[in-house]
Amino acid sequence: MRVLFIFLDGIGLGENNPEKNPFARAQMPNLSRLLEGRSLLKIAAPFHGEYASLVAVDPAVGVSGLPQSATGQAILLTGKNIPAELGYHYGPKPNPAVASFLKDDTLFANLAKAGKKTALLNGYPPRYFHGIDSGKRLYSSIPLAVTNAGIPLFRHEDLFAGRALSADFTGEGWRTMLGFLDAPVMDATEAGRKLGTLAKEYDFSLFEYWASDYAGHKQQMDEAIRLMETFDEVLGGLVQVWDDGLILVTSDHGNMEDMSTRKHTAAHVPALVIGEKAARQEFTHGMKDLTDIAPAVWRTVMGDLNKSHKDLIS
Ligand SMILES: [Zn+2]
Repeated sequence: MRVLFIFLDGIGLGENNPEKNPFARAQMPNLSRLLEGRSLLKIAAPFHGEYASLVAVDPAVGVSGLPQSATGQAILLTGKNIPAELGYHYGPKPNPAVASFLKDDTLFANLAKAGKKTALLNGYPPRYFHGIDSGKRLYSSIPLAVTNAGIPLFRHEDLFAGRALSADFTGEGWRTMLGFLDAPVMDATEAGRKLGTLAKEYDFSLFEYWASDYAGHKQQMDEAIRLMETFDEVLGGLVQVWDDGLILVTSDHGNMEDMSTRKHTAAHVPALVIGEKAARQEFTHGMKDLTDIAPAVWRTVMGDLNKSHKDLIS
Protein backbone atom coordinates (compact mmCIF):
# COMPACT_ATOMS: atom_id res chain seq x y z
CA MET A 1 0.00 0.00 0.00
CA ARG A 2 1.16 3.51 -0.89
CA VAL A 3 2.54 5.85 1.81
CA LEU A 4 2.93 9.62 1.62
CA PHE A 5 5.20 10.78 4.45
CA ILE A 6 4.83 14.46 5.32
CA PHE A 7 7.72 15.46 7.52
CA LEU A 8 7.13 18.59 9.60
CA ASP A 9 10.32 19.61 11.34
CA GLY A 10 10.09 20.55 15.02
CA ILE A 11 6.48 19.73 15.81
CA GLY A 12 5.70 18.23 19.21
CA LEU A 13 2.46 17.45 21.00
CA GLY A 14 2.22 20.24 23.55
CA GLU A 15 -0.03 21.57 26.27
CA ASN A 16 -3.37 23.19 25.53
CA ASN A 17 -1.89 26.59 26.39
CA PRO A 18 -2.55 29.45 23.93
CA GLU A 19 0.25 31.52 25.53
CA LYS A 20 2.87 28.98 24.45
CA ASN A 21 1.41 26.68 21.83
CA PRO A 22 0.33 27.82 18.35
CA PHE A 23 -1.64 24.56 18.02
CA ALA A 24 -3.87 25.81 20.86
CA ARG A 25 -4.65 28.92 18.77
CA ALA A 26 -4.44 28.09 15.07
CA GLN A 27 -7.70 27.59 13.18
CA MET A 28 -7.29 24.16 11.60
CA PRO A 29 -10.76 23.03 10.47
CA ASN A 30 -9.53 20.26 8.18
CA LEU A 31 -7.35 18.69 10.86
CA SER A 32 -10.16 19.10 13.36
CA ARG A 33 -12.54 17.26 11.04
CA LEU A 34 -10.04 14.40 10.64
CA LEU A 35 -9.55 14.22 14.41
CA GLU A 36 -13.28 14.62 15.09
CA GLY A 37 -13.02 17.90 16.96
CA ARG A 38 -9.55 17.48 18.44
CA SER A 39 -6.47 19.67 17.93
CA LEU A 40 -2.87 18.55 17.51
CA LEU A 41 -2.24 18.53 21.27
CA LYS A 42 -0.88 16.11 23.85
CA ILE A 43 -4.36 15.45 25.25
CA ALA A 44 -5.61 14.33 21.83
CA ALA A 45 -3.39 11.21 21.62
CA PRO A 46 -3.94 8.32 21.34
CA PHE A 47 -6.90 8.57 19.00
CA HIS A 48 -8.34 6.20 16.41
CA GLY A 49 -11.29 7.66 14.54
CA GLU A 50 -13.12 7.15 11.28
CA TYR A 51 -10.61 9.02 9.13
CA ALA A 52 -7.41 9.38 11.12
CA SER A 53 -5.30 8.05 13.96
CA LEU A 54 -3.02 10.04 16.25
CA VAL A 55 -0.29 8.44 18.34
CA ALA A 56 2.32 10.18 20.52
CA VAL A 57 5.84 9.05 19.65
CA ASP A 58 8.92 9.52 21.83
CA PRO A 59 11.80 11.16 19.89
CA ALA A 60 14.30 10.90 22.78
CA VAL A 61 14.57 7.10 22.29
CA GLY A 62 16.00 6.61 25.78
CA VAL A 63 19.01 8.88 25.29
CA SER A 64 19.54 11.95 27.48
CA GLY A 65 19.60 15.46 26.05
CA LEU A 66 17.18 17.15 23.69
CA PRO A 67 16.46 15.36 20.42
CA GLN A 68 18.03 16.92 17.32
CA SER A 69 17.27 16.92 13.60
CA ALA A 70 20.11 14.90 12.06
CA THR A 71 19.70 11.93 14.38
CA GLY A 72 15.90 12.28 14.53
CA GLN A 73 15.49 12.25 10.75
CA ALA A 74 18.03 9.42 10.47
CA ILE A 75 15.95 7.33 12.89
CA LEU A 76 12.81 8.05 10.86
CA LEU A 77 14.56 6.78 7.72
CA THR A 78 16.27 3.73 9.22
CA GLY A 79 14.30 2.59 12.27
CA LYS A 80 17.63 2.33 14.09
CA ASN A 81 18.26 3.81 17.50
CA ILE A 82 21.19 5.90 16.27
CA PRO A 83 21.39 8.16 19.37
CA ALA A 84 21.75 5.02 21.54
CA GLU A 85 24.55 3.71 19.33
CA LEU A 86 26.35 7.07 19.28
CA GLY A 87 25.51 8.08 22.84
CA TYR A 88 24.08 11.47 21.84
CA HIS A 89 21.51 13.35 19.79
CA TYR A 90 23.01 15.40 16.98
CA GLY A 91 22.02 18.12 14.53
CA PRO A 92 20.95 20.00 12.63
CA LYS A 93 23.09 18.51 9.82
CA PRO A 94 24.56 14.99 10.05
CA ASN A 95 28.18 14.58 11.17
CA PRO A 96 30.15 11.68 9.62
CA ALA A 97 28.96 9.29 12.34
CA VAL A 98 25.28 10.02 11.64
CA ALA A 99 25.88 10.09 7.88
CA SER A 100 27.36 6.57 8.04
CA PHE A 101 23.88 5.28 8.99
CA LEU A 102 22.34 6.84 5.89
CA LYS A 103 24.44 5.08 3.25
CA ASP A 104 22.46 2.03 2.26
CA ASP A 105 20.11 0.66 4.90
CA THR A 106 17.42 3.36 4.64
CA LEU A 107 13.76 3.31 3.62
CA PHE A 108 14.66 4.97 0.33
CA ALA A 109 17.49 2.56 -0.47
CA ASN A 110 15.68 -0.59 0.63
CA LEU A 111 12.37 0.25 -1.07
CA ALA A 112 14.23 1.13 -4.28
CA LYS A 113 16.06 -2.24 -4.06
CA ALA A 114 12.69 -3.95 -3.62
CA GLY A 115 11.54 -2.38 -6.89
CA LYS A 116 9.31 0.28 -5.33
CA LYS A 117 9.02 3.74 -6.82
CA THR A 118 10.10 6.41 -4.37
CA ALA A 119 10.74 10.14 -4.37
CA LEU A 120 11.43 13.19 -2.27
CA LEU A 121 8.74 15.54 -3.61
CA ASN A 122 10.44 18.86 -2.77
CA GLY A 123 11.83 20.92 -5.62
CA TYR A 124 15.17 22.49 -4.66
CA PRO A 125 16.43 25.80 -6.06
CA PRO A 126 19.73 26.24 -7.97
CA ARG A 127 21.42 27.90 -5.00
CA TYR A 128 20.81 24.76 -2.94
CA PHE A 129 22.79 22.67 -5.44
CA HIS A 130 25.47 25.37 -5.72
CA GLY A 131 25.85 25.22 -1.94
CA ILE A 132 26.18 21.43 -1.98
CA ASP A 133 28.58 21.39 -4.94
CA SER A 134 30.81 24.07 -3.42
CA GLY A 135 30.91 22.31 -0.07
CA LYS A 136 29.38 25.30 1.73
CA ARG A 137 26.17 23.43 2.44
CA LEU A 138 25.76 19.93 3.86
CA TYR A 139 22.82 17.75 2.99
CA SER A 140 20.44 17.29 5.87
CA SER A 141 19.66 13.67 6.71
CA ILE A 142 16.64 13.27 4.42
CA PRO A 143 18.18 14.46 1.10
CA LEU A 144 21.40 12.66 2.06
CA ALA A 145 19.53 9.35 2.32
CA VAL A 146 17.69 10.05 -0.93
CA THR A 147 20.81 10.86 -2.96
CA ASN A 148 22.72 7.94 -1.39
CA ALA A 149 19.92 5.68 -2.66
CA GLY A 150 20.60 6.95 -6.19
CA ILE A 151 17.33 8.88 -6.33
CA PRO A 152 17.82 12.37 -7.79
CA LEU A 153 16.50 15.44 -5.99
CA PHE A 154 14.00 17.50 -7.93
CA ARG A 155 15.25 20.83 -9.31
CA HIS A 156 13.64 24.08 -10.35
CA GLU A 157 12.84 22.59 -13.79
CA ASP A 158 10.80 19.90 -12.03
CA LEU A 159 8.97 22.48 -9.95
CA PHE A 160 8.14 24.53 -13.03
CA ALA A 161 6.98 21.40 -14.88
CA GLY A 162 4.72 20.40 -11.99
CA ARG A 163 6.74 17.32 -10.97
CA ALA A 164 7.72 18.70 -7.56
CA LEU A 165 6.36 20.97 -4.84
CA SER A 166 7.84 24.06 -3.23
CA ALA A 167 9.13 23.75 0.36
CA ASP A 168 6.53 26.35 1.40
CA PHE A 169 3.77 24.38 -0.39
CA THR A 170 2.42 27.35 -2.39
CA GLY A 171 5.55 28.40 -4.29
CA GLU A 172 5.23 31.99 -3.06
CA GLY A 173 8.74 31.81 -1.59
CA TRP A 174 10.25 31.12 -5.02
CA ARG A 175 9.02 34.57 -6.07
CA THR A 176 9.63 36.52 -2.85
CA MET A 177 12.75 34.84 -1.46
CA LEU A 178 14.46 33.20 -4.44
CA GLY A 179 13.75 35.76 -7.17
CA PHE A 180 11.99 33.43 -9.62
CA LEU A 181 9.28 35.91 -10.60
CA ASP A 182 7.67 33.42 -13.00
CA ALA A 183 7.59 30.51 -10.53
CA PRO A 184 4.26 28.68 -10.43
CA VAL A 185 2.20 29.75 -7.42
CA MET A 186 -0.93 28.05 -6.17
CA ASP A 187 -3.12 28.51 -3.16
CA ALA A 188 -2.63 26.12 -0.25
CA THR A 189 -5.65 23.94 -1.06
CA GLU A 190 -4.43 23.53 -4.62
CA ALA A 191 -0.94 22.74 -3.28
CA GLY A 192 -2.49 19.97 -1.18
CA ARG A 193 -4.22 18.52 -4.22
CA LYS A 194 -0.92 18.75 -6.09
CA LEU A 195 0.88 16.93 -3.27
CA GLY A 196 -1.69 14.13 -3.37
CA THR A 197 -1.56 13.88 -7.15
CA LEU A 198 2.24 13.67 -7.12
CA ALA A 199 2.27 11.11 -4.30
CA LYS A 200 -0.02 8.81 -6.28
CA GLU A 201 2.80 8.30 -8.77
CA TYR A 202 4.96 6.62 -6.11
CA ASP A 203 4.80 3.72 -3.69
CA PHE A 204 6.60 5.85 -1.10
CA SER A 205 7.10 9.58 -1.24
CA LEU A 206 8.23 12.10 1.31
CA PHE A 207 7.71 15.83 1.55
CA GLU A 208 10.00 17.79 3.85
CA TYR A 209 8.82 20.97 5.58
CA TRP A 210 11.34 22.85 7.72
CA ALA A 211 9.70 26.27 8.31
CA SER A 212 7.96 24.96 11.45
CA ASP A 213 11.27 24.31 13.22
CA TYR A 214 12.58 27.69 12.11
CA ALA A 215 9.52 29.52 13.50
CA GLY A 216 10.03 27.64 16.78
CA HIS A 217 13.69 28.68 17.06
CA LYS A 218 12.70 32.28 16.30
CA GLN A 219 9.78 32.11 18.75
CA GLN A 220 7.48 33.64 16.13
CA MET A 221 3.97 32.85 17.40
CA ASP A 222 2.04 34.69 14.67
CA GLU A 223 4.19 33.15 11.95
CA ALA A 224 3.76 29.68 13.47
CA ILE A 225 -0.03 30.10 13.50
CA ARG A 226 0.04 31.29 9.89
CA LEU A 227 2.18 28.32 8.83
CA MET A 228 -0.09 25.80 10.50
CA GLU A 229 -3.25 27.39 9.10
CA THR A 230 -1.66 27.14 5.65
CA PHE A 231 -0.74 23.53 6.36
CA ASP A 232 -4.36 22.89 7.32
CA GLU A 233 -5.53 24.13 3.91
CA VAL A 234 -2.92 21.87 2.30
CA LEU A 235 -4.36 18.97 4.28
CA GLY A 236 -7.85 19.88 3.08
CA GLY A 237 -6.78 19.77 -0.57
CA LEU A 238 -4.77 16.60 -0.02
CA VAL A 239 -7.64 14.56 1.40
CA GLN A 240 -9.87 15.70 -1.49
CA VAL A 241 -7.73 13.75 -3.94
CA TRP A 242 -6.45 10.95 -1.68
CA ASP A 243 -8.16 7.61 -2.18
CA ASP A 244 -5.79 4.72 -1.63
CA GLY A 245 -2.93 4.45 0.84
CA LEU A 246 -1.81 6.11 4.03
CA ILE A 247 -0.73 9.67 4.73
CA LEU A 248 1.71 9.98 7.64
CA VAL A 249 2.45 13.34 9.26
CA THR A 250 5.25 13.21 11.80
CA SER A 251 8.32 15.01 13.10
CA ASP A 252 11.84 14.56 14.43
CA HIS A 253 11.46 16.46 17.72
CA GLY A 254 9.35 19.08 19.42
CA ASN A 255 10.02 22.81 19.17
CA MET A 256 7.20 24.93 17.75
CA GLU A 257 4.59 23.66 20.23
CA ASP A 258 6.37 25.53 23.04
CA MET A 259 7.14 29.15 22.17
CA SER A 260 8.44 29.84 25.69
CA THR A 261 11.78 28.38 24.60
CA ARG A 262 13.83 28.80 21.45
CA LYS A 263 15.27 25.32 21.90
CA HIS A 264 13.92 21.94 20.91
CA THR A 265 11.70 20.29 23.50
CA ALA A 266 11.48 16.83 25.01
CA ALA A 267 7.82 16.53 23.97
CA HIS A 268 6.53 13.47 22.16
CA VAL A 269 5.89 14.08 18.49
CA PRO A 270 2.69 13.24 16.63
CA ALA A 271 2.29 10.30 14.30
CA LEU A 272 -0.85 11.43 12.51
CA VAL A 273 -2.03 8.75 10.10
CA ILE A 274 -4.83 9.30 7.58
CA GLY A 275 -6.41 6.57 5.47
CA GLU A 276 -8.15 3.24 5.63
CA LYS A 277 -8.88 2.24 9.22
CA ALA A 278 -7.46 -1.30 9.31
CA ALA A 279 -4.24 -0.12 7.66
CA ARG A 280 -3.94 2.70 10.19
CA GLN A 281 -4.49 0.28 13.07
CA GLU A 282 -1.75 -1.95 11.72
CA PHE A 283 0.56 0.99 11.05
CA THR A 284 0.29 2.39 14.58
CA HIS A 285 0.16 -0.94 16.40
CA GLY A 286 2.65 -0.93 19.28
CA MET A 287 4.12 2.38 18.11
CA LYS A 288 6.07 4.02 20.95
CA ASP A 289 9.12 5.88 19.75
CA LEU A 290 10.74 7.22 16.59
CA THR A 291 12.33 3.84 15.77
CA ASP A 292 8.86 2.36 15.17
CA ILE A 293 8.04 4.62 12.21
CA ALA A 294 10.33 3.21 9.49
CA PRO A 295 9.30 -0.43 10.10
CA ALA A 296 5.63 0.61 9.91
CA VAL A 297 6.25 2.41 6.60
CA TRP A 298 8.13 -0.64 5.29
CA ARG A 299 5.35 -3.09 6.29
CA THR A 300 2.69 -0.87 4.71
CA VAL A 301 4.48 -0.27 1.42
CA MET A 302 5.65 -3.88 1.07
CA GLY A 303 2.35 -5.34 2.20
CA ASP A 304 4.43 -7.50 4.49
CA LEU A 305 2.15 -7.82 7.48
CA ASN A 306 3.24 -10.07 10.27
CA LYS A 307 -0.19 -10.07 11.80
CA SER A 308 -3.56 -10.15 10.16
CA HIS A 309 -5.68 -7.05 10.36
CA LYS A 310 -8.40 -9.00 12.14
CA ASP A 311 -6.17 -9.53 15.18
CA LEU A 312 -5.52 -5.83 15.47
CA ILE A 313 -8.98 -4.37 15.04
CA SER A 314 -10.66 -6.38 17.79
ZN1 LIG B 1 15.84 22.82 15.12
